Amino acid sequence: MKVPFLDLKVQYQSIKHEILPALESVCENTSFVMGKHVFDFEKQFAEKHGVKHCVAVSSGTDGNHLALWAEGIRRGDEVIIPANTFIATAWGATLCGATPVFVDCHPESYNLDPAKVEAAITSKTKAIVAVHLYGQPADLDPLRKIADKHNILLVEDAAQAHNAEYKGKKIGGLAKSASFSFYPGKNLGAYGEGGAVTTNDDTLAEKCRMIRDHGASKKYYHQMYGHNYRMEGFQGSVLGVKLKYLDQWTEGRRRAAKKYYEELRDIPEIIVPKEMDYAKHVYHLFVIQVKPQTTLSTETRDQLQAFLGQNEIASGLHYPVPLHQQECFAGLGYKKGDFPVTEALAEHGLSLPMFPELSDEQISFIASKIKEFFKK
Ligand SMILES: *Cc1c(COP(=O)(O)O)cnc(C)c1O
Repeated sequence: MKVPFLDLKVQYQSIKHEILPALESVCENTSFVMGKHVFDFEKQFAEKHGVKHCVAVSSGTDGNHLALWAEGIRRGDEVIIPANTFIATAWGATLCGATPVFVDCHPESYNLDPAKVEAAITSKTKAIVAVHLYGQPADLDPLRKIADKHNILLVEDAAQAHNAEYKGKKIGGLAKSASFSFYPGKNLGAYGEGGAVTTNDDTLAEKCRMIRDHGASKKYYHQMYGHNYRMEGFQGSVLGVKLKYLDQWTEGRRRAAKKYYEELRDIPEIIVPKEMDYAKHVYHLFVIQVKPQTTLSTETRDQLQAFLGQNEIASGLHYPVPLHQQECFAGLGYKKGDFPVTEALAEHGLSLPMFPELSDEQISFIASKIKEFFKK
């Protein structure tokens, strides 16, 4: 049985009859950049997340940048970023000229650990970026308390967490703003690059709309510095079709996760992810850890990955090198050992296949192979 890490083809086949006419309608309307499809999608996406505004942009990375740029983050400022995230979270800060300050993640949620955030705050700190990593919301209430106490900005990086909930509320409107990614492999993926910034703040939304379109609200009249962060019509049309299926696909991921929990329960050599009681996890990724204390090390994780590969089961590492150990941040002066929880995930973590259509049979097969590996 061959199990891919992610299967975008099977999803495309199921909605092809809606996608192709939607793309054709973009051509017929020649609404190639922004236009009706994008604006309709913005409205629907905001509604879906219970937030007032959605500003569609050209990628999640651009959304990370725009959310901080529009708040005036600039050179000399510090922005708190989890060490355990995809690097684009940090680009949001660096593109503003600000310095990312890394903080370790919580040992169970794998997200920014509120208990460790306060120690990282200095007089230069201007923002905290709470990433909802792997599809699980960060613990926003304590983070908001810290942000309010120090009068700094709190934003969400929701690139992996469309449709997720924190204490019964959809993420995306629970901080000053949130950025989303619609990269094809994300829980809601375009057929190319795409992203969005959501917010309940009218002024911020207007500013984001202007920066996205060359700093102008009226063509050729540029009131502020800007950039071209516009979304393409094709992407808006695909996302409009796909958004209708997001609930169904989210439930597909949660069903797959439930099956994994059942199947992997009695394997003492691994740690399965934990769905926190404040979270509705949307399982962008299902990351297990090979327990470090059972003489098992990174090599064991690598051997398990190779063994799964021999059995045609794909898997991934998220992420093999924590941000503070990336070469590009060598100048910031971090070292190995600074963030043990994040480093443990890099060394022992393994992402198993996860997508809505992943079948129970496939999951049983994966579990049986993991068991076989540890019996050897
Ligand atoms: C994917 C991702 C991004 C960037 O999104 P792109 O659309 O690929 O630019 C940002 N943050 C996180 C946590 C991501 O997973």
